[in-house]
Amino acid sequence: MRVIVVGAGIGGLAIAVGLRQAGVDVQLLERADRVRAHGSGLSLFGNGFRALDALGIGDQVRAAAGPAVVVHRSGTRRPDGSWLTRMASTHDVRVIDRADLYRILLAAVPAGSIRTGARVVEVGDTSVVLDTGERRSADVIVGADGLRSAVRTNAFDDPGVRDCGYGAWRAVTTGSVALDDAGETVGLGARFGIAPLADGRVYWFACVSTPPGSNPAGDAGMEEVRRGFGHWHPPIEEILDATDPASVSYLPIEELAAPLASFVSGRRVLIGDAAHAMTPNLGQGANLAIEDAATLATLLVAAKHGDELPAVLARYDALRRRRTQRIARQAKALGVVMQASHPVTATLRDLAMRSVPARVVDSRLRAVTSWSPPTP
Ligand SMILES: Cc1cc2nc3c(=O)[nH]c(=O)nc-3n(C[C@H](O)[C@H](O)[C@H](O)COP(=O)(O)OP(=O)(O)OC[C@H]3O[C@@H](n4cnc5c(N)ncnc54)[C@H](O)[C@@H]3O)c2cc1C
Repeated sequence: MRVIVVGAGIGGLAIAVGLRQAGVDVQLLERADRVRAHGSGLSLFGNGFRALDALGIGDQVRAAAGPAVVVHRSGTRRPDGSWLTRMASTHDVRVIDRADLYRILLAAVPAGSIRTGARVVEVGDTSVVLDTGERRSADVIVGADGLRSAVRTNAFDDPGVRDCGYGAWRAVTTGSVALDDAGETVGLGARFGIAPLADGRVYWFACVSTPPGSNPAGDAGMEEVRRGFGHWHPPIEEILDATDPASVSYLPIEELAAPLASFVSGRRVLIGDAAHAMTPNLGQGANLAIEDAATLATLLVAAKHGDELPAVLARYDALRRRRTQRIARQAKALGVVMQASHPVTATLRDLAMRSVPARVVDSRLRAVTSWSPPTP
């Protein structure tokens, strides 16, 4: 069997790892000149780690990410530092520098199977066309090409992308910062997230409700972050002081405008953001992309003949679509609550959060993170 994977992001690299280990002929086509991580830190949960275990690289990623966030108190706070919710257990959440995750994935995919500078512009049932006009064929085409997927646009009823009305600055500190606590702090249409990396550096994000396209990165972005969050509870100012302004990036938060009716069209199948781009409020987009990859790799490897492929792809759709679309809905709803920008709604939110017992918060999160890979 020959598989073409369009896009060498986390999802594309992960499925290539799973397929190559089983000896499947896989070709990754990436439009960029080189494969590299965009963004800074990434939260990986128990579900993501079980998917990475299925791909054979879970322990390497755990080692790079360091201990689970249990060493810190975690939950949600107000800008004055008072707690609104507390996490009672860890959910095995660990924070990794995206560059480290890419390094591990790349080391597990033979270099010869990745072609960079290869932008896919047309997608047939079992072939793709590059912007050079070159056509390449395979038994299955996997669209792992992210939010603005060319595979989705070409071969699916594409609902397009929606701006969610808020955006996030992100960075990792250059040096270590002592942390007693981690989690998110919520204000009026603004929140700040703090997550420890294994080596003592801190991954942070600052999210603000904003008209699209109005927020800069780099020095000017850092000034806006300082203005909005520098006076919030410690150690936020210390974290900003320990950050190189040039490393601060900004992204408007976008999601798929409507859920897809299927992740499969003929021999084309979508994984990761191409299938279910969601807001980052539950920190699950990459975890689910890895789940998709582990699931699809397991099912494809078990297929003995080409004529089994339609049933295999239908099973992938059945296993993945409901779960990922439910989590996307939950993430979207959480974003509306967390970005509340009217004083009355923000006060009601804070009162409601204070009254929810930690075990209820935990059981909701556990419903998301207690996934295990399928048997073939
Ligand atoms: C602010 C923010 C914070 C986040 N935090 C977390 C978190 O803590 N935990 C978590 O699990 N998720 C998080 N996410 C979500 C996560 O980043 C994404 O869900 C994940 O990166 C999606 O991976 P992917 O491989 O599906 O797509 P992408 O990473 O977008 O990769 C797509 C690849 O396809 C390539 N490509 C695109 N078009 C073409 C084409 N036509 N031809 C060839 N190649 C193409 C691109 O160059 C890219 O390399 C966050 C997202 C944001 C915005």
